[in-house]
Amino acid sequence: MASKQMLHMNQGQEETSYARNSSAQSVEQNKMKPLIEAAILDLCSRSSTMLPTRMVIADLGCSSGPNALTLVSIAVQAIHSHYLQFVQPPPEVWVLLNDLPHNDFNTVVQSLVTLHKGNDPVVVTGVAPGLFYERLFTSGSLHLVCSSNSLHWLSKAPGVLTSNKIPAYDIDEHARLERLPIVFEAYEQQFRKDFTLFLKLRAKEQVPGGRMVISLPGRRSDQLASELCHLRETLARILRIMVIEGVIDKAKFESFYVPMHGPSDEDLRVIIQEEGSFFIGEMRVHDPRSGVDNALMVPSWFAIMMRAVFEPISVQHFGDVMDEFMACTEQRWSQPGSLEEEVAGNPLVMLVVSLTKVVLVEIYIGCLT
Ligand code: SAH
Repeated sequence: MASKQMLHMNQGQEETSYARNSSAQSVEQNKMKPLIEAAILDLCSRSSTMLPTRMVIADLGCSSGPNALTLVSIAVQAIHSHYLQFVQPPPEVWVLLNDLPHNDFNTVVQSLVTLHKGNDPVVVTGVAPGLFYERLFTSGSLHLVCSSNSLHWLSKAPGVLTSNKIPAYDIDEHARLERLPIVFEAYEQQFRKDFTLFLKLRAKEQVPGGRMVISLPGRRSDQLASELCHLRETLARILRIMVIEGVIDKAKFESFYVPMHGPSDEDLRVIIQEEGSFFIGEMRVHDPRSGVDNALMVPSWFAIMMRAVFEPISVQHFGDVMDEFMACTEQRWSQPGSLEEEVAGNPLVMLVVSLTKVVLVEIYIGCLT
């Protein structure tokens, strides 16, 4: 990999933009609503000494388009509804949206002002461009962190593969299956490293008792790695056809790494427990297809959704092959029953977790003697 990979989604509001092709992700965000509302209720119901007069809420990996505001809007609305029942004024709210610097923040900023409506609660907004694998906010400042459909993006492809030139993708199915355990282990280790760092950084940035609600694609613990059929693999299957059709170069294909990993629910639980800064209030595992309008699930919808997510990283590596990508994807899935087969054979699940930052009770020996 010569340069830093372009991991952001398709910008703007054009036909192929993420903004116009993220309805499946929006369904997932709405499934997080009860957990975000419960987290807000918890923060607003604390004893008077811990009750915040100012609340800072951040969405990490917001992208652009309507989804960028969904999670923070749920949180602001929950604060509003809670304080309507009481005479005391609600806390002032500071909403911060994070994504990579190449994200389409122009579009995001224009829509952010819609959160300012009314003065109950007072809402001020801002953006925090940067990697969520780095420090983004000041220490002890965040009350609620949300993130949807983003934390499966790794900080980079596993170094053990890239530096040893071990392909993650293979034209030959036999070679692919033989190498799968090494590739899988490399991605799993990278996820463990990245997610542990993510938790450490957020723990530093959150107030004691701060809350976090996240969702990301993954797999069930009882699902074998060899059965893994992640989005990364769906992309690989399309690119493989493009190699066979001579659209992209075999060597290019074998040096393409998508820095993406979906953990199992058990992996996620173990990483959170071992890191130790947060305890798990609730973890949900569900099928992302529940709640998505079946009528939408046609080849062109899948193809354009894949394009909106993978165009920047694919074009950076292969050049502009997106028209061929779309044609190949639609053609592959237009064979009768093939899309249904892909969907049935792709046991992707969504993991949703609600966390609370552990409050450390420091006991000073000196005070006790
Ligand atoms: N939350 C939105 C967008 C999800 S798309 C939704 O649910 O629809 C994933 C987003 O994560 C992209 O916008 C991508 O740019 C962002 N992303 C990926 N890696 C990131 C990182 N290391 N730091 C910050 N954002 C990242």
